[in-house]
Amino acid sequence: MIELAVIKKNIETIQKNIEAAAARSGRNSSDVTLMAVTKTKPAAVVSNLLEAGIRCFGENYPDETAGKIDAFRADPAARLAMIGHLQSRKAKIVADLFDEFHSLDRLEIAEKLETLCTERNRNMPVMIECNVGNEDSKSGWHFTDESVPDNFLEDFEKISQMPHLDVKGLMILPPYAEEAEINRKYFIRTRKIAEYLNHYCGAHITELSMGTSSDYTAAVEEGATIIRIGTALVGPRDYSGKKLEVSS
Ligand SMILES: *Cc1c(COP(=O)(O)O)cnc(C)c1O
Repeated sequence: MIELAVIKKNIETIQKNIEAAAARSGRNSSDVTLMAVTKTKPAAVVSNLLEAGIRCFGENYPDETAGKIDAFRADPAARLAMIGHLQSRKAKIVADLFDEFHSLDRLEIAEKLETLCTERNRNMPVMIECNVGNEDSKSGWHFTDESVPDNFLEDFEKISQMPHLDVKGLMILPPYAEEAEINRKYFIRTRKIAEYLNHYCGAHITELSMGTSSDYTAAVEEGATIIRIGTALVGPRDYSGKKLEVSS
């Protein structure tokens, strides 16, 4: 398992890279939150991340998260976001255990969560997942070019009006790229979608969750406020011998 000292060193490196990228684009690095992505990692890694000062976490598989929820709960300031595709039958776990939902990828799951949050008398900050790479293998609303499609605008309007869901931003997971530069066009597109929604649709989007281990520097240069880092922070994931929840 990855040691605390290694995690601290990784955070230092990532923080330096964030600062350099922010400086290159005239941004303040304190406007960028480092989210630790801890899927497949044991509770002890979560504890080490807390020890190293991380307070923002992303998890993908609700059942797995439930099994290590005490590690997150150890610090009341820790915020836990669901960032993976959510099956309807697992939505209860998200409404019960997660602080935020960052992978809102279809109207149906928004309706489901709105009902669950109403029953629980709680609000849920959400991020809308935009499929800016127009990939069939990924979820989220499809964007084929620079335009903002009508079906997205209609659903966005409906979700914005749900009393228990607070739309804070947009989230993207572009194609895997060896180099950060390759995904810059997707980061720019996402920022433009947010600007469009704020300008023409009365939206109040303040967060852009974009950038992972391989491309977060370009994401920060283009306006990311949350970067989601797994590998560069806590090492590669080991899926061997693990029965993953099938997504879809
Ligand atoms: C796994 C995952 C990440 C982290 O990816 P790394 O390349 O390990 O940094 C970020 N976002 C989402 C949605 C993920 O599923």
